[in-house]
Amino acid sequence: MARRTRFVDSDILIVGGGFGGCGAAYESRYWGRDLKIVLVEKANIERSGAVAQGLSAINCYMGMQWGENQPEDFVRYARGDLMGLVREDLVYDIARHVDSTVHMFEEWGLPIIKDPRTGRYLREGKWQIMIHGESYKPIVAEAARKSATEVYNRIMVTHLLMDKARPNRIAGAVGFNVRNGEFYVFRAKAVIVGAGGGSHIYRPRSVGEGMGRTWYAPWSTASAYGLLIPTGATMTQMENKIVLTRFKDGYGPVGAWFLLLKAHVTNAAGEMYEAARFDEIKARVGKYAEIHPMPTCLRNHSLLEEVKAGKGPIYMHTQQVLDTKEKEEIGWEDFLDMTIGQAVVWASQNVDPKDRPSELITSEPYIMGSHATCSGAWASGPEDCAPQDYQWGYNRMTTVQGLFGAGDTIGGSAHKFSAGSFTEGRLAGKAAVGYVIDMKADAPQVDEAQIKKLEQTVFKPLENYRIGRNEIVAGTVAPSYISPLQGLQRLEKLMDEYVGGYSMFYVTSEPLLNRSLELLSMLKEDFEHIGAEDLHQTTTAPTIPSWTTPSGMCSRHLNTMPTRLSGTCRSFLFTTSFSQRGFVTDFRTLAGNASLIASRVSVWRQGSESKGRPPAVFAMSFIRRATAAKARR
Ligand SMILES: Cc1cc2nc3c(=O)[nH]c(=O)nc-3n(C[C@H](O)[C@H](O)[C@H](O)COP(=O)(O)OP(=O)(O)OC[C@H]3O[C@@H](n4cnc5c(N)ncnc54)[C@H](O)[C@@H]3O)c2cc1C
Repeated sequence: MARRTRFVDSDILIVGGGFGGCGAAYESRYWGRDLKIVLVEKANIERSGAVAQGLSAINCYMGMQWGENQPEDFVRYARGDLMGLVREDLVYDIARHVDSTVHMFEEWGLPIIKDPRTGRYLREGKWQIMIHGESYKPIVAEAARKSATEVYNRIMVTHLLMDKARPNRIAGAVGFNVRNGEFYVFRAKAVIVGAGGGSHIYRPRSVGEGMGRTWYAPWSTASAYGLLIPTGATMTQMENKIVLTRFKDGYGPVGAWFLLLKAHVTNAAGEMYEAARFDEIKARVGKYAEIHPMPTCLRNHSLLEEVKAGKGPIYMHTQQVLDTKEKEEIGWEDFLDMTIGQAVVWASQNVDPKDRPSELITSEPYIMGSHATCSGAWASGPEDCAPQDYQWGYNRMTTVQGLFGAGDTIGGSAHKFSAGSFTEGRLAGKAAVGYVIDMKADAPQVDEAQIKKLEQTVFKPLENYRIGRNEIVAGTVAPSYISPLQGLQRLEKLMDEYVGGYSMFYVTSEPLLNRSLELLSMLKEDFEHIGAEDLHQTTTAPTIPSWTTPSGMCSRHLNTMPTRLSGTCRSFLFTTSFSQRGFVTDFRTLAGNASLIASRVSVWRQGSESKGRPPAVFAMSFIRRATAAKARR
């Protein structure tokens, strides 16, 4: 079939127009007035990404103008919640810039709710401020649209291009128009990836008729990792999956209910199980149990133990806090701004949260880098406060030359959320401008043969279907191809059962992980034979490898944990050596496996002792360094 190929040249190419991508577009225009900045988005930036529907709170705001918090406080918080596992230089960098981002959002028209008593932004919690956020994404997208030279909506980027002569240098990307099938080749001097995190890697609790109902956006197909990993970019903490406690079935957020409305949680018998389990948790993880609020993963752990002990369901006592009209409004608005589905689920199940307690449950795991978790690319840190071995020239540049990232793409810095992801996009944008200017006329060269090969790969599923459809034996069963949906469901089942999904109480073992790697390699072989009926299915076909690539890495990273330095992939080594600074593996995924947790905590202690620098000490010295740097400025 004749297909048109379009070529687009730019100085900076931004892949993904979510919060990270929009921040990158805005800031690269600010510093690079004369540069050609191109933004490519698979949906439409007006309403794309995890904030498409809106939000009711900005979860990362210091309030430095009122002396509410300082960046150092935020580093302490993020480190505590992740039990030592954060890149403090990256977290600090976002914290010191995020307030200015939020102030711009307000200037651009985002309604931020004020506390009538103080005139300050109304806080939901220590770090969260409340917004009327239904139009949050269009407001932010407008700034990006005005900044970018060109915005290409409805182009799904499938692969990154490398320089013909220098294999560790980025040269652009390819993709296709999801509406008309045109093939696009984007040639660029620098690329910033902001393509969002990974839902649907693990089997979701809602399957069949409920498919698509997940906590993180169902269209977050792990492109950030699926695009980066094949380039050889070093990744970190790909084993650090996030599991959220949410209202059952609708994934309604619980933050406002906990923090603002002060609802409490019990087991079915009405017992405050978290307090009852404190001593047991403290015996396992020591001082981390005493952090306030207790790290998310430890709270999840006690919930899971309670359910396993047959004491579920777990209830949030919504009925006890909705005692005024104002509180009722807060409760409902929290859903209407960002998870309207929860209201619909409750209505369909005859649940009125005013009359009865509401069930909580843990979600399926996700892989992402901007929430209370840190999966993603290993990136260069800010030159004024990152340790020497954590920086190589340009802030937020990955280990691939000219390839930058923001938001879910960048690992090691948790708790960015929406404003922090935009801020990280700004940091990456500024650094990418510096990189392009330093490169002068030394532009990368794309490889025509590689482009031809990638074009064939992208459209092969359509060809597979055209030929294989004649052999369909029953319904969708075909001997020579699998559909994207069949491939996805096979991946989800495998990850759930072997790599610690919800059906296994998030626990896995070395033999299970080894088997998962075998099954994943067979699945990859079958992906050569995906058949797509139409362009719409073709958009899901490349997302399957995009999902599978980080799945394999997640499994392999987990598998290196017990021995710490097994495996040969350099990203393993990075993960493990990074972990020596604060080696506690993912308690979310290990919750329930006491001996494994205990052994890993002891590994962490040994590791820290041998380096003579336990994570808390590292953190303190970091904060001292950062404070000194600030004083010098
Ligand atoms: C349910 C939910 C609740 C949340 N609650 C809050 C909250 O209360 N407060 C808060 O501050 N934050 C909240 N967040 C977090 C916040 O939304 C994310 O941290 C932030 O959006 C991450 O930014 P990002 O740029 O990495 O990803 P995204 O904003 O998701 O952007 C990724 C973009 O890349 C595009 N894309 C993906 N793949 C491709 C491809 N292959 N080619 C082209 N384009 C592609 C996507 O369409 C999307 O536009 C919430 C998120 C969710 C899902």
